[in-house]
Amino acid sequence: MRRQLICINCPRECHLEATQNADGEITVTGNGCARGVAYARQELTDPRRVVTAVVHTTSETMPWLPVKTAAPLPKQDIAPLLNRLYQMTVEVPVSCGETILADVGGTGVNVVATTECVV
Ligand code: SF4
Repeated sequence: MRRQLICINCPRECHLEATQNADGEITVTGNGCARGVAYARQELTDPRRVVTAVVHTTSETMPWLPVKTAAPLPKQDIAPLLNRLYQMTVEVPVSCGETILADVGGTGVNVVATTECVV
């Protein structure tokens, strides 16, 4: 398997080429530093993303609360999470950083509020 990637770890945006051989060994070229190798290996073996969304609240003045995952989530867990979040209604008050949903899909990753909602 061979993939072209752009490293997102710094503004240099190195163009990486990651190759995985039959034994599973991954070689990376085009990286400006070791973080690019780690990024490419993660993308080939366990790609993850921080997820941002909004959830409905019981507030009349702030009916939608912005939330995000507290850590990157495996990509296969993103669609189920979004389906769940869009069906939720959160009771106010909520403080910034408060956990809205714990241990998404058994990953240990929580969804937290990114702002407060008091009324
Ligand atoms: S490989 Fe290193 S230098 Fe290149 S974009 Fe990634 S972090 Fe920046």
